[in-house]
Amino acid sequence: MSLGLPTKRHMADIVIIGGGVIGLSIAYELAGQGASVQVLERGQFGQEASWAGAGMIIPADPKSATTVDARLQAESFVRWPGWSRLLYEESGVDNGFMNCGGIQLSSDSSGIELARSAQQLRGCGAIVEALDADQLRLLEPNMNPDITNAIHLPQMCQVRNPRHLKALLTACHVRGVTLTAGATVTGFQRQGARLNAANTTTGAIRAGQFVVCGGAWSESILASANCSVDVEPVRGQIVLLDDFTKPLRRIVEVGPRYLVPRADGKILIGSTEEWTGFNKGNTAEAVAELIRFATNLVPTLKSAGVARFWSGLRPHAKRGIPYLGQAPETENLFVATGHFRSGLMLSPITGLLMRQLVLGQELLIPLDELSVRSSRVLV
Ligand SMILES: Cc1cc2nc3c(=O)[nH]c(=O)nc-3n(C[C@H](O)[C@H](O)[C@H](O)COP(=O)(O)OP(=O)(O)OC[C@H]3O[C@@H](n4cnc5c(N)ncnc54)[C@H](O)[C@@H]3O)c2cc1C
Repeated sequence: MSLGLPTKRHMADIVIIGGGVIGLSIAYELAGQGASVQVLERGQFGQEASWAGAGMIIPADPKSATTVDARLQAESFVRWPGWSRLLYEESGVDNGFMNCGGIQLSSDSSGIELARSAQQLRGCGAIVEALDADQLRLLEPNMNPDITNAIHLPQMCQVRNPRHLKALLTACHVRGVTLTAGATVTGFQRQGARLNAANTTTGAIRAGQFVVCGGAWSESILASANCSVDVEPVRGQIVLLDDFTKPLRRIVEVGPRYLVPRADGKILIGSTEEWTGFNKGNTAEAVAELIRFATNLVPTLKSAGVARFWSGLRPHAKRGIPYLGQAPETENLFVATGHFRSGLMLSPITGLLMRQLVLGQELLIPLDELSVRSSRVLV
């Protein structure tokens, strides 16, 4: 397919920089419209934040969503079942998407934070049921009996990140996307208001349009194209337990901490929020604290095995909402980054909207407030 752009043999119409869930979702959508797409990934595809995340998908209803952030969440939420089915049909890989339900607990004794969260979720159209101690015990018999105040989110879902990335990668390949691993973008070649090529460690790659989806590294990639965004890495550590007794069925959230039970008996414990630059290590203190958190909530987990632990760098947009839009000074450069704690959840809608933007199609959600220039700040 030609997009009315300068054509050259073997030159992709569109080059995407960054092969995480955001870059791959956009590539998948664009290739589905017949565009020729190449994704450049510095390391191996889908091995950074997108691999490390917990895969929680929070419910919302497009009919209730009024703000742009709520619309993003709601339009993404309703797309997950169909998106997963289509990926499965095209790739043969089951991404583990399922409606497991979720429970939120108070992180403070007053319960004010939980009440606020329930109100916010209801405002987004999610089903929220208050639970007393007996009701909680009926749903999750292994939870600590001292817990008396909870809310139930029956629509909450989860996806298994590594499997989802494998499905996306395979489906991109099937749709004809050129997937180039081990190519670090170091800068761009410019002519006036347009970019001609991305300079990489393996040579210059020419294209008609460029989309930067570099996760926590987006700020420096974009700076080399004279585009300024405020995105920083925020480390999140995770511990994985292995408990064949499957003591938990639903996701449990307490403020920023959570337990995510997988169908095979694995339980993820997450997560920290740490401003430690690009350091992706694990610390004894955080691993111990996460295990303490889990065994306090579900005491039988004291006998669970520790399978492994890891960390990832979330791309945090300091203004509080992601950047989805066109770069101000460059007509063929686009940006999709800064999804912080919601990048997995928001990946279907990000893929769709960026495809619409790059191909000049009508936008499902206006992107003005998410543009690089927008001064809107979410507090
Ligand atoms: C512990 C943890 C738990 C999380 N839990 C959830 C959750 O439950 N639900 C949810 O929705 N989200 C969750 N997230 C957030 C989610 O994982 C991120 O928002 C999402 O993965 C961001 O995707 P991305 O593609 O922008 O970034 P990444 O996955 O980091 O991808 C960016 C890619 O760009 C590549 N790159 C960087 N620089 C260059 C360059 N110069 N040239 C070429 N390539 C480059 C990188 O190698 C990387 O592969 C969690 C994150 C963490 C860390």
